[in-house]
Parts: sequence; structure tokens; C-alpha cells
Amino acid sequence: MYNPGLAAALANTTEYGNRLFVYEVVGLSQNTKNDNLDYPIRNSGSVFITVPYQRMNQEMRRINAMGGRIVSIKPLNADTPLKVTPTRQSQAEVSQPPVSKTQEVKTKSMTETKVQVPVNIYRPNNPYIGKCVENYPLVAEGGSGIVQHLTFDISGGDLQYVEGQSIGIIPPGTDENGKPYKVRLYSIASTRHGDMKDNKTVSLCVRQLEYEHPETKQTVYGVCSTHLCFLKPGDDVAISGPVGKEMLLPDDEDATIIMLATGTGIAPFRAFLWRMFKEQHEDYKFKGLAWLIFGVPFTANILYKDHLEQMVADYPENFRLTNAISREEKNKDGGRMYIQHRVAEHAEELWGMLQNPKTHLYMCGLKGMESGIEEGLSPFAKEQGVEWSDFVKTLKKEHRWHVEVY
Ligand SMILES: Cc1cc2nc3c(=O)[nH]c(=O)nc-3n(C[C@H](O)[C@H](O)[C@H](O)COP(=O)(O)OP(=O)(O)OC[C@H]3O[C@@H](n4cnc5c(N)ncnc54)[C@H](O)[C@@H]3O)c2cc1C
Repeated sequence: MYNPGLAAALANTTEYGNRLFVYEVVGLSQNTKNDNLDYPIRNSGSVFITVPYQRMNQEMRRINAMGGRIVSIKPLNADTPLKVTPTRQSQAEVSQPPVSKTQEVKTKSMTETKVQVPVNIYRPNNPYIGKCVENYPLVAEGGSGIVQHLTFDISGGDLQYVEGQSIGIIPPGTDENGKPYKVRLYSIASTRHGDMKDNKTVSLCVRQLEYEHPETKQTVYGVCSTHLCFLKPGDDVAISGPVGKEMLLPDDEDATIIMLATGTGIAPFRAFLWRMFKEQHEDYKFKGLAWLIFGVPFTANILYKDHLEQMVADYPENFRLTNAISREEKNKDGGRMYIQHRVAEHAEELWGMLQNPKTHLYMCGLKGMESGIEEGLSPFAKEQGVEWSDFVKTLKKEHRWHVEVY
């Protein structure tokens, strides 16, 4: 259900902040779970729920959790319902949303946040030498490849970082030309406080690169990833950075955070989720919805599986986990289940969420993911009369589209 009028209306919280909206919801049935609802379910199957702007996200989650589907949203007492069939004019609205005061404020506050983000404290030519304190495997028995969780002590320097940033690692030794190896980037997998919560460590999630040389057919192992995956506690590691401002988590505690990850692309999202649910912070109490759609080849490759499942159990209202296990699950056409198939399965819901200016979409992992997501969502956008590329442009402009692929 694409709704440009709603997108514009919601963006303008100055005008709409105190207003009420009516959700028309289908798919809810009267049962013990729903008995405590404060609205009647009609014989027609539709339920009309009046929601203040500030509670829209929360109510959306409640409805989702109960298996309901929102089919329209309209402002209470508005002359024009927001359930519109988009026209060419509404497409134009998507690509050029009206700039409201709130949007100006929002953009400014994000810029301010960005200014405070530390970058390049250590340069690759003069790195910080940290020590490995922990290195353990993340792939369970029967999974493919080697993926390690690594933690480095950074207490002796000035390295600081925030969730969503990366650090550089400079492998020891020289390349075939006798020159020092170049820096490789890795997404930070810990919160700004580190896994020990003492602000003295940084963690990574690293896969050992392994491939068959196209000509010699010999197995080749990546230089830096192999160095990292086989580090022992006490070993030195040369660190630069931090870098990156594209994958930062918004300050908004009520945001909807959609995370699409493949393999080690989970790293920045581990940092997000740990900040949201595992660690307690005075300055950040997440009350929104986080939805991780995670693509892996085998169940044994679901990195941090126990933690993720525990978070779902502990925070069912705030955290949702959807796996796409390519070698074990089939998509609707009988082929392998990739992340884009899960996106397509949930296209309507994801699309609805993305109409809300509080929603951010993140993707991290394999190159090519972006086109996969387009494959999953653009047919749905088209049905609503919206060009996918225009929609992405709008999300980028609003700093709600975050991509890190490698
Ligand atoms: C922003 C960012 C974040 C990243 N985050 C992570 C992360 O969190 N975890 C992680 O594990 N990695 C991450 N990476 C990837 C990481 O930086 C390295 O690229 C990766 O570890 C490989 O480095 P290496 O030194 O082991 O490989 P190298 O020794 O540098 O070998 C890589 C080279 O091998 C060749 N090659 C690779 N695959 C094939 C193939 N199939 N066929 C033929 N040739 C091939 C290519 O020439 C490639 O450039 C990230 C990259 C970026 C840019």
C-alpha cells in the first residue's frame, strides 16, 4: 500500500504531530490474544483503529504481531482519504517531497550527529597497534567457510567509534612488489562501548576469503582475512580509522530499523542490536521496531544465532528476525531462498513501513544485494505506480537508505 499523501503528511510533523490517524486493518480475529484490544472487530473483517501520530509505529507493530494487515491509513476528519491510487502527480510527489520545517530540522540534527562522529583518528601509515583478546568461530558444525568473531584491546590509544562505522586493518608483511600491504576495511561489530562494555575494545566479524584461482585452479586465501581469522589472544593487530558515516544508527529511539544482511554483513547490525537490546544505556532506550532479514547458506551459518533468537524471545514487540537460508529453503518458484525472495514475500509490509519517515533501510554484505532488494520490492512499487529508482532517490535524500556492500 503506497501512500504518497501519507508520506508527505507524516514528514510534516509540525502540522501533523498532534493529529489522529485511522488505520483500517484486516486479518485480525477475535480470540483470547486479541481480547484485550480496545476496539471491536467488525463482521466485515475490517477494524478501524484511531492512532495518534506519536503512536503510529507502536500500533503498526502491535497489529503486525497479531497477524493483522493495514490496508489504509487516513487522517481523522480529513476530506481526502490517504488510500489513493497513485497517479503521475503522486509519483512526482515521491521524487520531490515537500520540504517541511521538520525535515529541515531532521536533516540538521543528523548532520550535527555526523559532525560528532569520529573519523580517521589513526591513519593507515601510522596505525594503532592493538592486541587480540578474543577470537572465536561463528560457524557451527556443518556450515560453510570460516567466520570468526574477533575482539581487540584498544585501551592504550585514542580510538573511538560509533555503531555503523568500520576500521581498517593493515596485514603484516609485504605484497609481491615488496610494498607494505594496503589497508582492508571491516565493519565494526561491537557497540561504541565494546563487548566488555568498558570502552576499551572493538570487535569484528570476519570471513576468511577463499576462492579457486580461475587459471591455476589452486585454492587462494585472502591475505588480511586469513591473518585475522588465525590471530591468537595476545597477537598484535594494526588498526586504522574509524571510517564511515553512511551506516549510522539514528538517534530516534522510536525508529523502525529494517536491516538486510548477507553473511558478515551482520556485523554493523550486531552493533545496532546490542545497543538496542543487550546493553543498557542512559542516553538511548530503543522503543521502535528492528527487523533483521538475514541471508546465509546453511542454518549453521546463522552468525550469532543464539543471541538473535534470545533477543526475539526477550523483545517480541521490538525485534523481528527473518532468515533466508539459501541451501536449505526453497523460494516460491522452487529455487534457492535468497534474501530478495524474503523481501518479495514481505513486500507489502516493507513498502508500508518505508512510507513512514521514521523508517530506515540498511543493507550490508555481498555486492549485488542492492539489485536483489530492487528485484524484491520494485514489482510491488510498480503496482502502486511508483518508479523504484525515484523512490530510492527520495529515501537517500531523506537519509533513510543506507548501503554498505563489498
Ligand atoms: C566497508 C567495508 C566493510 C567490510 N566489512 C567486512 C566485514 O565486516 N567482514 C569481512 O569479512 N569482510 C569485510 N569487508 C571485506 C574486507 O575488506 C576484505 O576485502 C576481505 O576480507 C578480503 O580481504 P583479503 O585481504 O583477505 O583478500 P585479498 O588477499 O585482498 O584478496 C582479495 C582479492 O582476491 C581476488 N578475488 C576474490 N575473490 C575472488 C574470486 N572468487 N575469484 C577470483 N579472484 C577473487 C580479487 O582480486 C580481490 O580483490 C569489508 C569491505 C568493505 C569495503
